[in-house]
This record gives sequence, C-alpha cells and structure tokens, in this order.
Amino acid sequence: MTADPVALARDLVRCPSVTPSEGGALKFLESTLKTAGFTVHRMTFREPLTEDVENLYARIGTAPPNLVFAGHTDVVPPGEESAWTHPPFSGESAKGELFGRGAVDMKGGIACMIAAALDHLAANGGKPKGSISFLITGDEEGIAVNGTPKLLKWAAEHGEKFDHCLLGEPSNVAALGDTIKIGRRGSLNGHLIVSGKQGHVAYPDRADNPIRGMIKLIDAIQSEPLDKGTAQFSPSHLEFVSIDVGNKTVNVIPGEARAQFNIRFNDNHTLDSLKKLIEKRARKAAGSKIKFTFKWQPSNAGVFVTKPGPFTKLVSDATRKATGRKPKLSTTGGTSDARFITHYCPVVEFGLVGQTMHQVDERVPLADLKALTAIYRDIIDRYFA
Ligand SMILES: [Zn+2]
Repeated sequence: MTADPVALARDLVRCPSVTPSEGGALKFLESTLKTAGFTVHRMTFREPLTEDVENLYARIGTAPPNLVFAGHTDVVPPGEESAWTHPPFSGESAKGELFGRGAVDMKGGIACMIAAALDHLAANGGKPKGSISFLITGDEEGIAVNGTPKLLKWAAEHGEKFDHCLLGEPSNVAALGDTIKIGRRGSLNGHLIVSGKQGHVAYPDRADNPIRGMIKLIDAIQSEPLDKGTAQFSPSHLEFVSIDVGNKTVNVIPGEARAQFNIRFNDNHTLDSLKKLIEKRARKAAGSKIKFTFKWQPSNAGVFVTKPGPFTKLVSDATRKATGRKPKLSTTGGTSDARFITHYCPVVEFGLVGQTMHQVDERVPLADLKALTAIYRDIIDRYFA
C-alpha cells in the first residue's frame, strides 16, 4: 500500500486552520499517524496575552537515531475569497494543480512527509530501524510563542532526543530541487534616541539640537560594514528605516530625535554581541557631547546554520537523484522555526516551491507533491540504510 500525498494534501487544505485555529488539521494528522502505528501527543500551549495554540508530536520507534520531520499546519488568512479561482479551503484541483491556502506553505510539504514515512514503514515491516518523528505546530505564521519553542521544550522535558531534523518549508525558488536552506540570518530591531534641549531657533546657544547628534551617530553606526560575510552567509546588513523628531513648526529646535533600524546578521554575531558592537560605535562617536540611549526590541530571531556535512549531503543527493538538479545550499530569506530547532539538533529546510505562498491562488503542481514524496522517501531510506 502506498500513501497518496495528493489526497493527504487535499484533506489538509480542507481544514480551515488560519493561525491560531486548529481547523481539524492536527486531528486529521493524529488519526492518520495513529493508524500507521505512531504514538501521538497533542498539546495546547498557552501564555498570558496570547491565543492558545494546539501542537502535535508523534513518534514511531524507540531506538536512535530519531529523524524528525517538522512543520506547521497553520496558514495565513486567504484574503478576499472571491479573488480565488477555486475557494481557498475547497481542496480543488485543476489542470494538474492543487489549489488552496497552505498548498505549498506548508500543508503540501506535510502531506509529502507523511506519505513518505508511511511508504517507508510499509516497505520495512511497519517499523523504522531507528525512529521517525513529526513535530507539528499550529503557530508558525503567527507570533510563534505557543508553537515550536514550547513544543521543543516539552519534548526535551519528556526525554525525547532528536538526531536530525528536516523542516518542510517551501525552500525552492523556481523549481523543485533548486534550493535547500541550511541557515537563516538573524534579525534584530533597535531604536536610537538622542536627547538634546528644546529651544527657539533664533537662540541656538540656549538649545541643543539632537538632530546633529543623530546624524553623527547614524553615520558612525552604518559607515563601516558589520563584517565581510562568512562561508555560508552574505555580509550582515544594518538599515535605518526611519528618523523622527515629530516637529511640526519651523521655529522650534526639537528636544529629542528618534531613529529605528533593523539588522539582518550572519553567524559572525549573536544578538548580544551585535548590540554591544553597535553601542560601542555610538559611544565612540558621541564622546561626552551627545546624549543617547538604545532600546532593543526583544528578539527570538537568532542566526542559525547547519554547516555542510553528511546530513546536508544526504538531502542534497536524494534531491539531485529525483530532480536532476544540484540544489544550492542557501541561507537567504526571512526567519523560520529552524532557528529554534537548531538548538536541539542539526536542521535543514527542504520543501515545495515557494512562488505562490501567501498569495491568492496558492497552488502546487500534483507532480511536485509526488516528486517531493519520492525525495523524502529516499532521504528516509538513506538515513536508516
Ligand atoms: Zn511556512
């Protein structure tokens, strides 16, 4: 018996699981995995001021190594439903493509993982040589507080050990097999506040214009590159996105200036070392004259990288065999849940083609669902060979 990734993807798309709603998606996975012999845990995580979110952890086998497939069943809202060629939660297929919210991001990916695992088990007497697990959250597209971080903590507290993880986010750019993500840059937001002294423009000696100080500090902070890049990453980049004094008059020197910036950073830095570096540059330029403070937005978006090695090669080889493409090992793009998983085991991201994700008429070629299932199946076979 082989599992059908197209039917699995269709059934998942029909669950309206817009974050933080479970929409029946995890319930569907629970029954599918239980039937295949997995031990399934469902847990709801909560935290003050956030919505409760349901999550799932399933495992078959007790022996190491434990190969973990990770992903999320929640989806972004469909937007204007009438703009869709096929209703976003209908799971309709047309001209060889499955339409629907989550088709590529990432219910399609989850369907392929499940189909691949079930196929592997069916061909191996129902049991893996080690263990296969699924770590599925309903809180990836939201603020990601009651999702993967708490799920990983729960698993660790219950003695679960992970050896390698494959996160099925849509990693490919134009065609299945073109890109495996082995890392993501970190992201940090900061505010720079320069205080001066308000006063009349005609009497500048009685005032202290913070705009001068702000210009000097911004120049000092951004004039030198943060680094030259690393083996896996492009150079870190700092971008000021606003400078405000909120002044509506022409004859008042403002008392305070504020600027906001974002930094996308590579593995030369950590969140802490980066803050120290920026503050040091500002202190040096300010001397004793300019009064300033930084306010750093809390961030859980650290950098992650899984250096090329046997596991990335295994994923790469399986992809190349099925698609004929040699995947690029990339670290571009925004953040993903891999930034949490990396603290527990090496993780790489490989899934469908991301072109239509978060768009109206999100859709996936049925051929891609079948091909990705074959790749995942090959990865499992090689992993336990
Ligand atoms: Zn996603």
